[in-house]
Amino acid sequence: MVNQQRLVEEFIALVQVDSETKHEAEIAKVLKERFGTLGLQIEEDDSSAKSGCEGNNLLFTLPATAEAQDAPTIYFTCHMDTVVPGKGVKPQIGADGIIRSDGTTVLGSDDKAGIAAMLELVRVLEEEKIPHGIIKFVITAGEESTLLGSRNMEPGWVKADFGYAIDSNGEVGGIAVAAPFQSKVYITVKGKTAHAGVSPEKGISAITVAAKAVARMPLGRIDKETTANFGTFFASGETNIVTEKVELIGEARSLVKEKLLTQLDAMKSACESACSEMGASCDFRYELMYPGYKFDETAPHVKLAMDAAEAIGLTPNLFHSGGGSDANLFNGQGIPTVNLSVGYQAIHTVNEYIAVSDLVKVAELVVEISRKAGQATK
Ligand SMILES: [Zn+2]
Repeated sequence: MVNQQRLVEEFIALVQVDSETKHEAEIAKVLKERFGTLGLQIEEDDSSAKSGCEGNNLLFTLPATAEAQDAPTIYFTCHMDTVVPGKGVKPQIGADGIIRSDGTTVLGSDDKAGIAAMLELVRVLEEEKIPHGIIKFVITAGEESTLLGSRNMEPGWVKADFGYAIDSNGEVGGIAVAAPFQSKVYITVKGKTAHAGVSPEKGISAITVAAKAVARMPLGRIDKETTANFGTFFASGETNIVTEKVELIGEARSLVKEKLLTQLDAMKSACESACSEMGASCDFRYELMYPGYKFDETAPHVKLAMDAAEAIGLTPNLFHSGGGSDANLFNGQGIPTVNLSVGYQAIHTVNEYIAVSDLVKVAELVVEISRKAGQATK
């Protein structure tokens, strides 16, 4: 049985450890101490040198019990960092059973609710002597900054048959079985400078060209599985000079790789046609930030999570996520992974909150998944 009081105390302790993205040194220390005290093997990579985060990715391993030596190796993943403002979190438990911050910071249930569930899982398995296979816990740094930690993880460092991220929005019982491929798009439009008052006809305004290009691009919701957006449209100069250069930074996402590539092509052609009509030039570049994934209810790791959810009285809800998470990276490494809903609300705002009952449900769910995986054979 999940021990609610112990779980809540652990959660309250974890959210009070400062861990804003890139500043994970303190939380990493606490996590090594916690999982180490519970007897798990501790591994740490050297991703911080590349990721620019203070924290490395952490990997804790719980060996299989004697009865479950043939069970598959599963893993759970959470991230140790939080968004800003996340320093000096003062959690408060309301009479309504909801845990909130004092309103000046985020709460950090994204993703410390997941980490607290991991620790409770280890304690319950031990206490109740539940047979289980090898269970790994991967806690990444820098997730909130374009998955910095997992993107700088050595592929193959984590070896598991399948696993679960504990880091999705939605009611507990929700399972994000698909998430998009994402590309960042970098465009530089080059026009020609001239005096805007004396001889504007000798210039080519990069602003006009870039505006035409963007206006021609399919953006926003492209279809059910595809989106695109610009976040930066930058030029700066005097009003008496025809602008020579504009820089744009955008993104495109799709659950289907071919659709992502089609979208990127459409963005590029819009740029090239606007440039060629106006005698300008452009540099169009994109970078695949992370791969996508897509499973259905027939995938064994999805089925197992659905069965576990039902066994504890939850209604499994399979859905497609519009955002990326560490689950994307692990799928890219060939480890089938879906993302479990945590029940946290209003994340990335100072109004973030989580119900104690949801903390308990998430812990119960990971216990049940581990129990069922321990009864399976590879
Ligand atoms: Zn998160």
